[in-house]
Amino acid sequence: MGRPVRLVAPHRRPTTLSGCRDQGTCRDRSLHARRRPDVIDIHCHLDLYPKPASVIAEAARRGAYILAVTTTPKAYEGNLRFVGDARRIRVAAGLHPELVKERYKEVDLLVETMKRTRYVGEIGLDGSPEHRDSLPVQKEVLAKILEGCRSQGDKIVSLHSRMAASPVLDAIESAGDIGKPVLHWFSGAETELARAVDLGCWFSIGPAMLTSRRGRRLASMMPKDRVCLETDGPFGKLGDQPLMPWDAVRALPAVAEIWGTTEDRAADQIAENFRSLLAR
Ligand SMILES: [Zn+2]
Repeated sequence: MGRPVRLVAPHRRPTTLSGCRDQGTCRDRSLHARRRPDVIDIHCHLDLYPKPASVIAEAARRGAYILAVTTTPKAYEGNLRFVGDARRIRVAAGLHPELVKERYKEVDLLVETMKRTRYVGEIGLDGSPEHRDSLPVQKEVLAKILEGCRSQGDKIVSLHSRMAASPVLDAIESAGDIGKPVLHWFSGAETELARAVDLGCWFSIGPAMLTSRRGRRLASMMPKDRVCLETDGPFGKLGDQPLMPWDAVRALPAVAEIWGTTEDRAADQIAENFRSLLAR
């Protein structure tokens, strides 16, 4: 991509509710009107929707900020083409752990491709029954990618860790300073989450994760200033409907409840976190 790959963060906005304590009778409607939250989805698979072009057009109409993860280095190239110059969308270069068994040879191409972008993902490990047999090669590939992140420096890395949280954390720990690891849809044990927090990991959580009590419990243990929103669409679903990138905000009621705050304040915190994730 011949242009800067930095994702431009939303502008800082004043917190509207803090200026007035008299919300019940105050006549300044603008101060108390419910604001529309920034739409930010830092983990979705744009290229796997049936019609990516229409998703991109609708995302632009809604002013959505999107980090599109990819599952192979070739898909990264394809994504760059169809995302074009969409201002608020950036593409991450990845190699999905579920594909590593067949495509481990693409790891060198990925590390080379990563030189052109700050964003890396989706990478990681998958220890679920279908993919457990390829864990040894998955681990080798992940170590190579993280070493690439370390040597290239300052990456934002979206990581999959289904049924493999501990080995993913081992890999992050032994890689050294890779930039900012973001554990997407974390579903490990509470002790593993605590370790991830100690290692400085970030987290992306979404509406689908927060439908379960366990997901909400894990979310409640994440540091508030290291949480961003995601959909994991079209894999992430609510009911049988694939989530669209702008559905990330549908996580806000649950996030607000978990944090014991209002949806507006939760949205402010999420937007602030996004800026801080992108800050160098
Ligand atoms: Zn994903």
